[in-house]
Amino acid sequence: MGQTKLIKSISEMKEIVKDLKIEGLSIGFVPTMGYLHEGHISLMECSKRENDITIVSIFVNPIQFGKNEDFDKYPRDIERDLKICKEVGVNYLFNPSQKEMYPKGYSTFVIVEGLTEKLCGAFREGHFRGVTTVVNKLFNIVKPDRAYFGKKDYQQLKVIERMVKDLNMDIEIIGCPIVREADGLALSSRNKYLSPEERKSALSISKALFKAKKKFEAGETDPYKLIKLIKNVINSYPYTRIQYVEIVDSETLEPKTKVEKGDIIAVAVFVGDTRLIDNIEL
Ligand code: AMP
Repeated sequence: MGQTKLIKSISEMKEIVKDLKIEGLSIGFVPTMGYLHEGHISLMECSKRENDITIVSIFVNPIQFGKNEDFDKYPRDIERDLKICKEVGVNYLFNPSQKEMYPKGYSTFVIVEGLTEKLCGAFREGHFRGVTTVVNKLFNIVKPDRAYFGKKDYQQLKVIERMVKDLNMDIEIIGCPIVREADGLALSSRNKYLSPEERKSALSISKALFKAKKKFEAGETDPYKLIKLIKNVINSYPYTRIQYVEIVDSETLEPKTKVEKGDIIAVAVFVGDTRLIDNIEL
């Protein structure tokens, strides 16, 4: 088991980063909201392979949650997460407080236009503004050479890539594959909310995506037919309520009228009260 240093204060994290830079060490960064699972671990492993030092952050970012969303009940267990970081061999676990991240009088936000208005952005007002703001702050503190994001949150990855490009940040953004349970369900900290019955229904999401991909590979290029197929599969399970199913261009996130290789099928589905997202690349 490695030595993971838990850092709570922003100034201490900055001091450490300063020293790492003087030593000429490369920094890989994995920002998360914690309650770590194999999806997060795959990002950490990737960072470890490509950098001298790996820093993971855990911060449940209040400004990316809507008023009626799950900020208060979002699962938190820093001791458990620290243990996982040690097992993986992460160098630093940065876990700042809300008070230090957003002190009284805080009033600066980063907004990426366009991309953030599509897919999840149409339903979660202010969500991406919260994400880009916090990621920007974390980048300024950790000053990574490379930062790792999961394709599970595909739109988030594209928004961060856009931000880094537009703001001329010297950070390489690396998108990592979606990690799934053996039966296909995409790993998510929110899966913890699911009752055993809901867990069964949640499987409809990946099932539907795999089925649609097969149908595409067999020659179906009509997005409406593929979307209908997905909706039928998901709706045939109890507790499910579809928020959106879209087939979009992998870069612009614009809906397609004819589906092509490389396009993304993205879905958001409530299973009971739990909102789950998933996607697949065709
Ligand atoms: P979160 O803690 O949910 O904000 O996620 C932190 C990072 O882990 C984000 O870049 C996510 O895209 C990534 N991530 C979450 N779940 C998965 C997964 N199942 N596979 C790959 N990456 C994931």
